[in-house]
Amino acid sequence: MPEKELILKLAVELTRIKSIVGTKGEIEIAQMIYDFFKTLGYFVNHPDYLMLSDLKGDKLNRKNVIALLKGEKGSSRKTVILLGHIDTVGVDDYGSIKEYATCPERLKSALKMKELDEDTVKDMESGEWLFGRGIFDMKTGVAINMALVKALSEKIDELEGNVVFLAVPDEEGNSRGMLSAVEDLVRLAEIHGLEYVAAVDTDYMAPRFPGDDKKYIYVGTVGKILPCFYIYGKETHVGQAFEGLDANLLASEILREVDLAFDLSDVVENEASMPPISLSQRDLKSEYSVQTVNEAYLYFNYSTHCSKPDEVLAKLKAKAEKAFENVLKKLNDNYSRYCQAAGIPYREPPWKVQVLTFKELYDAVKAEMGEKIDEHLKEFKKKLLKEKLDDRIYSLQVVRELVRLWSNKNPAVILFFAPPYYPHIYVRGENEKEKKLLSAVNSAVAEVSARFPYKFEVRKFYPYISDLSFCSIPEEKAIEILVSNMPGWGEIYSLPFEFIRKLDVPVVNIGPYGKDAHKFTERVNIPYSFEVVPEIVEKTVRLLLEG
Ligand SMILES: [Zn+2]
Repeated sequence: MPEKELILKLAVELTRIKSIVGTKGEIEIAQMIYDFFKTLGYFVNHPDYLMLSDLKGDKLNRKNVIALLKGEKGSSRKTVILLGHIDTVGVDDYGSIKEYATCPERLKSALKMKELDEDTVKDMESGEWLFGRGIFDMKTGVAINMALVKALSEKIDELEGNVVFLAVPDEEGNSRGMLSAVEDLVRLAEIHGLEYVAAVDTDYMAPRFPGDDKKYIYVGTVGKILPCFYIYGKETHVGQAFEGLDANLLASEILREVDLAFDLSDVVENEASMPPISLSQRDLKSEYSVQTVNEAYLYFNYSTHCSKPDEVLAKLKAKAEKAFENVLKKLNDNYSRYCQAAGIPYREPPWKVQVLTFKELYDAVKAEMGEKIDEHLKEFKKKLLKEKLDDRIYSLQVVRELVRLWSNKNPAVILFFAPPYYPHIYVRGENEKEKKLLSAVNSAVAEVSARFPYKFEVRKFYPYISDLSFCSIPEEKAIEILVSNMPGWGEIYSLPFEFIRKLDVPVVNIGPYGKDAHKFTERVNIPYSFEVVPEIVEKTVRLLLEG
């Protein structure tokens, strides 16, 4: 059993290294973890089982830490991945006391100078909480994994099966650590004949609502996709408003149909994903004039529990068609009333509902231009890349260019995807690995809950976007539709599908308990996180490797 004191010590030491995403601190902390393992007897005997692995194509030269424990009882190939991220978000939210953000010992007294909410004050006075940037998200989790590896390595002859410890940077950024690691993991499995059975993450676990005192373990994870709409209307002079089609009106109607629409939530085993919420809506008119808006753009954060990219695309296409119909109806109704009042003859506006996916738009243009379109796009994208645009804007510009080249100038909505994409992982319990993970977690939780006074609940979807998503991906067909509808695929964004498909493991998050991740009141609860979580993690790992 990893001792509480060691985990506490490691959690504080890890926190003291400021490892804000995108900084050198991420390298420093990887080195510290590497050095910790290097002194352990097991890795002295097996130096090649411990690696600092360079992130592929990373300008910052960041590294993953990988440590392999090969159990010496029997010759089982079964292997559990112990996952954690070593980066944190920035510390600007600490304001005047930010120099103490990563010093848990001093931060507490510094925090007293700040105005704090009631709950934080109560927790601070209880003495049961540790404060610090990253201590909750997720250095305590990494410390638990490190201590477990140490404990297992000391009794390696009693370990049946194998454990791969993995610590990655950039989780709070673009997941470059994990995306690089999937290839490392696959190669490691090939070299050592490992068979991955599950990935265990120890990222943070927070109350689900104020006053919630349950402790959650999540088997599986939520996913995220970024659907975008480009709207091409028909400009007109404000004096002849009914002769055009206002792109802003169409964009707003799409927003109304999609934003917070619960019918777009995935409800799976009594767990509902957050409905889509807009992250940007704007028109593309740059100056004041009395010409109406003919281009607009909006995109949404779309969480998933079970809907794959092809299904999301189909649902949103239907929503956009509905929005288009609503707008045409509004236009017609108001125009006919206006005509009556103004005493002019009414003629129905000529517009028709026209919603295309990016792939459909591309095919339409290709049908007109043939191979030439590909050459043209290649050159166009080359220039775009030099502008170093935001990924969303890059995607939009490709769509605009295609629309510009298309002979059809009627109002249209183009639906496409922009980066990033995080697949959800739904552990149904249908195959052997999933069954095994569910039963291991349930047994571990049952065992521990008999001895500790906490209410536990095993849920299906870790609710915070995380690296866990890259342990498995949906089938080929769904991915094909994602790729063919993402204008920047292979240029500004891609995912190592081939390796993720080989990795393909179910996931669980067994997290330390705390509050306010990404806020200056970030804190971790000591009794639960340093005593109970390590036990659940260890038992789960053992049960996964058993039999
Ligand atoms: Zn985290």
